[in-house]
Amino acid sequence: MLCGGRSVANPAKQQRHLAVHCAKMTSPAFWVEVRALAGRSVMPLLRSFFIGLSRNRGMRRFSENSTLGARLSSRFVAGMEIEDALRVAASVNRQGISVTLDSLGESVTTDAEAHRAAEIYHRLLDEIAARKLDAHISVKLTQMGLEIAPELAYTVVESLARHAAAIGSFVRIDMEDSSLTGATLEIVRRLHAQAESQSAVGIVIQAYLYRSQDDIEQLMGEGIRVRLCKGAYKEPASVAFPRKADVDANYLRLSYRLLESGIFHGLATHDEKMIAAIREYARQHGIAPSRYEFQMLYGVRRDLQRDLVRAGYNVRVYVPFGREWYPYFMRRLAERPANVLFLARNFFRS
Ligand SMILES: Cc1cc2nc3c(=O)[nH]c(=O)nc-3n(C[C@H](O)[C@H](O)[C@H](O)COP(=O)(O)OP(=O)(O)OC[C@H]3O[C@@H](n4cnc5c(N)ncnc54)[C@H](O)[C@@H]3O)c2cc1C
Repeated sequence: MLCGGRSVANPAKQQRHLAVHCAKMTSPAFWVEVRALAGRSVMPLLRSFFIGLSRNRGMRRFSENSTLGARLSSRFVAGMEIEDALRVAASVNRQGISVTLDSLGESVTTDAEAHRAAEIYHRLLDEIAARKLDAHISVKLTQMGLEIAPELAYTVVESLARHAAAIGSFVRIDMEDSSLTGATLEIVRRLHAQAESQSAVGIVIQAYLYRSQDDIEQLMGEGIRVRLCKGAYKEPASVAFPRKADVDANYLRLSYRLLESGIFHGLATHDEKMIAAIREYARQHGIAPSRYEFQMLYGVRRDLQRDLVRAGYNVRVYVPFGREWYPYFMRRLAERPANVLFLARNFFRS
């Protein structure tokens, strides 16, 4: 059952439940009612709801094995196989947009799983070189074994960073929840300190964390490339700004610091207000568009991606693929719950 988050033993019944819930949420009246009932406070509630769903194992198992789930996820996920991702990457490149490829998956529990996950990335790097794609890779450390042993994740990612460096590509280490921030920073710093992989590794910093300003100062001092995002996990007020207005203000503050650093950073957001302010700040400070890039997610604000390219800005799109799409997909719904309406409308139309 979708809303209660409990699993239903009968898959056919569960599929019907999913369809009924989607149908309910496609109705504009549903959203009018929700807004009227909860006023401005509805978004945080829906966000928590979808973040909660992203951790629901029963729903995850069911959704990842259902054709309905695969169809719904295709708006944000390039496909299930490497070849799907490479085909999408080539087509995105043809629009003048760079790519970062993400083989979906997180929190592996055995060394073998970590090595298998890394093997997919090695194949991607080989294909990026062979097909001359304008692409690099984005990697989650929990998929490389961080929660089994930090040293395992370090060794696995070091070999990816060396491979990327050898072909002139790059490994971006995604940032996960705040319990892993310190360990992630430590591993990226160690990788950056290695001459063989120095130019080929960068990190993600989340503007919702109080600690991010200090982290950014330290990373800039070491010359490490940063992707700045707002942050996609549910964090307590003890570590992260609870109010969106504060997250947005911090996002701009940190963006300006990154722009001033002279290092090539990625500013990841779909927020037009952030993008306009960043463009204006760069213009006023004589920072050319070639000195940084905007980053967005596959399937989100394609219009804005195209507009930025036309205006002469670097844009990179994050292209996820693979069978373990469920937590990623739910985080996208948490960011913009109205996506449910959009997805379901298209689903029932097709
Ligand atoms: C390239 C990239 C990499 C990322 N990597 C990480 C990471 O490593 N760790 C991490 O915690 N988070 C990551 N994120 C997610 C990020 O933290 C935010 O959760 C996400 O980008 C939404 O924030 P926003 O800045 O787009 O603005 P918001 O303030 O959330 O939204 C502003 C506007 O953007 C549009 N928008 C935003 N999200 C969506 C969506 N899903 N669908 C449709 N429209 C939308 C809407 O118009 C919305 O009104 C990444 C995001 C991007 C773009």
